[in-house]
Amino acid sequence: MSNYTVRKLKIGNTEQMQTLSRAAGELYSRTVVNFWRTVRKQNKWLKPSSMMRWLSNDSENRLHAHSADAVVQSFYASLKSWRERRKTDPDARPPRRRKWFFKVQWKSSAIKVKDGKLRLSNGQGNEPLVIDWAWDTPKLIEMGWDGKQYEIRACYATEEVSIKESGTVAGIDLGEIHLAVAHDGKETIIANGRLLRSKRRYQNKLKAKLSGLIDVKKRGSKRRKRLIRSKQRQLAKLNNQIKDIQHKQTTKLVSTLNNRGVQTVVIGDIRDIRKSVDYGKKANQKIHQMLHGQTRQMLTYKAERLGMKVELQDEHYTSQTCPQCGKRHKPKNRLYKCSCGFQFHRDAVGSINIRRKYLGCMDIPVVGVMASPIGVRFKPHLQCSPVPLLRAEQ
Ligand SMILES: [Zn+2]
Repeated sequence: MSNYTVRKLKIGNTEQMQTLSRAAGELYSRTVVNFWRTVRKQNKWLKPSSMMRWLSNDSENRLHAHSADAVVQSFYASLKSWRERRKTDPDARPPRRRKWFFKVQWKSSAIKVKDGKLRLSNGQGNEPLVIDWAWDTPKLIEMGWDGKQYEIRACYATEEVSIKESGTVAGIDLGEIHLAVAHDGKETIIANGRLLRSKRRYQNKLKAKLSGLIDVKKRGSKRRKRLIRSKQRQLAKLNNQIKDIQHKQTTKLVSTLNNRGVQTVVIGDIRDIRKSVDYGKKANQKIHQMLHGQTRQMLTYKAERLGMKVELQDEHYTSQTCPQCGKRHKPKNRLYKCSCGFQFHRDAVGSINIRRKYLGCMDIPVVGVMASPIGVRFKPHLQCSPVPLLRAEQ
């Protein structure tokens, strides 16, 4: 089992933190201004390396050189993501806004842990940022504003998963809308849940209807017994159909991932999270839970049978966090839309974030991956053999 690979810690708000965050904001703004000015005046896109050399540090040398580089890299990450998005989204906006404050990142060269303190180096001649710390040395640290105070996000690379291997990790979200959605860093694969949902609904309706009929028959009567038998038969048949869909969909999903070279399958684990649902939805929730449990089980043994490793990942906030800017909000319908311009399938966002959470880079924005999803739709004769995949409708 993999543990958290991002550790978050609230650290309050001091003048030093503000100074650092403002320095990053200034540097980010200068990057934005310089980039677009060069585009306008020379019709040229400055490369990140030229930009870094040009700006080299914030004007007052408050940031560590690598922290300054990270600010410039953040701008280029947004730029890259916009260029990918605009291929499919005409409303995508380029990163043009200046920022008064911006997140500060420290790379390993600037991170030290000693005597229960975390020391984050800043520009020469400046005090390090010192924080009480009872844990290992992180690989990467980010300090950002959580709306009320500053927050440290410490990234650890897990032993099993190096960055090189991340290409072989897929996240799976057992969705609200779809049976399961997988994301492997490049492609999103959706096991469509429409047919399954309609079968479920029909099953509930049928159950209610037949129970109603049985209730008005006299106890012990022949008619009542016959009706009970018929109810059991009909429900069992539906149950088999549902199982069949689940089996075919999960087999197809797992074999697709296997064919794509995926070695580790990370499934979002929801078991603790669904407690906070209001009671009116409880029955519905139970069905969801059961279905998710079955799907998880099927995916697990099928993936393991093909030699893949299966891990569970706590999926707190994975369906709400924007993979691009990290802001959090609840999607209202099937489409996840963020104010930063990012939009994608709601369940797909979950799978992207589950994967990122497992890899420990929750805060590194997703860039250039929003290819339109591949659909695994149920067809009665769907089997494990490779079949050309359909592009799913949005
Ligand atoms: Zn966003």
